[in-house]
Amino acid sequence: MGKSKHDFDTSHRDLLNEPFWQRVPAWKDVDEETFLDWTWQAKNTVTRPQQVLKLLEDIVTPEFLEDVRQGFRRASMSVRVSPYVFGLIDWDQPYTDPLRIQFVPLASRFTKDHPMLRFDSLCEQKDSPVPGLTHRYSDKALFLAMDTCTVYCRYCTRSYAVGSDTEDYEKMQLRVNRERWQVAFDYIRNTPYLEDIVISGGDTYQLKADQVTEIGHALLDIPHIRRIRFATKGPAIMPMKLLTDHDWVDALTEVMERGRKQNVEVCIHTHFNHPKEITDITRRALGVLFERGITVRNQSVLVRGVNDSPEIMKQLVRRLAYVNVHPYYVYVHDLVKGAEDLRTTVATALAIEKVVRGSTAGFKTPTFVVDAPGGGGKRDAHSFEHYDRETGVSVYRSPSVDADQYYFYCDPVALLPESGQKRWADPSQHDLILKEAEEAARSAQLKSESFYRPGSGHLVRLPSAGEIEPDEDVTSHTG
Ligand SMILES: *Cc1c(COP(=O)(O)O)cnc(C)c1O
Repeated sequence: MGKSKHDFDTSHRDLLNEPFWQRVPAWKDVDEETFLDWTWQAKNTVTRPQQVLKLLEDIVTPEFLEDVRQGFRRASMSVRVSPYVFGLIDWDQPYTDPLRIQFVPLASRFTKDHPMLRFDSLCEQKDSPVPGLTHRYSDKALFLAMDTCTVYCRYCTRSYAVGSDTEDYEKMQLRVNRERWQVAFDYIRNTPYLEDIVISGGDTYQLKADQVTEIGHALLDIPHIRRIRFATKGPAIMPMKLLTDHDWVDALTEVMERGRKQNVEVCIHTHFNHPKEITDITRRALGVLFERGITVRNQSVLVRGVNDSPEIMKQLVRRLAYVNVHPYYVYVHDLVKGAEDLRTTVATALAIEKVVRGSTAGFKTPTFVVDAPGGGGKRDAHSFEHYDRETGVSVYRSPSVDADQYYFYCDPVALLPESGQKRWADPSQHDLILKEAEEAARSAQLKSESFYRPGSGHLVRLPSAGEIEPDEDVTSHTG
């Protein structure tokens, strides 16, 4: 008999409420009023490696400082961190701090990229009918309004578009450009089955108030648009903007209120990854949006060393719920150049999901998804046709994108059993590994489909491994 144990942990309510930024010598005299001024945050945002090194000079060891210096040299993205985030990092424990891991690269942690990594692994550029608009699913599209962010995440999926150029590759340029916007709006207007627009980037926090108004109204003028989401990591990076940038919040509120009058939902999708990112400042900031009736949903990325444990993820989900945010998705980390040390396995995602589900309200419980490389779109992490834990390859299908295509996700090699690591170490094995996985997926799919009666619309019964007879007469089970 298993023990039943209620989990009465309420630590998610203990929000940091002290001048934590004063631990950074350069900001020891900065008072709360200054710190909450979003223009001060913007002005003091760290945007050059040299600034990071300068701020850290007296608070970390010389070895760590050198590790950071070399880390920047190797990183394929430039740096951008707000004082809010920088001040939240525990510089006494810089190697393991969950915020340091996400935003400040260390040379000592670099891991070789996965052999299957591709630039723009989600193939967003392939699905772009016009520049800066990704239209992959029938009724929804992703509008990339611009290419700047409040913060540069080491694990960014769109590192192909975000940040200044690095030596490695020429980035696609998506500056704020009204002509490009008009082309995108025209496409949306002329595509009547579109109902849902995600405005992303970059980060919509970077839009000026009048640009929020312009985009919002342009979309609200299109009768078939029923849902509009502004995507921004801002609330996690610079929550005080919601407390002190009244023009921006008012612009968003005005768009939302017009939307409400015409029964169109306008909301925010944000991105918190760790409970530590949510302080009392965040609670007050999100309170402003809640009071105005603006729904906020959260999309996290599962990052190794940051939130890849059931306890951390549970606390994150509960804390988000506590500050009126809806946890929506947890993404299994995409294959991204230079971020291999941050990825974890599909198996880890499944294990964490099992613990998280049931720990709070179902409507505050995120779905764990894999954004299938090659353009398959988001798939429930559990819905693979096949998952080989030795080679780390999971195979997904995505009938609403392409019914005949198989999509492969690859766990990081470093987390595989030794036998799996050996196979990936041998380039002549790579095609074979994928071919095997596809074959296994094909036969698993055939078996499970033999229990599914197209037309009857329901599953006859669930097959279990090893008991399946492909030619079994399923009609006898339907009565
Ligand atoms: C994520 C995404 C969307 C929105 O998908 P939801 O599952 O509805 O959140 C739309 N278009 C693209 C290309 C996306 O990647």
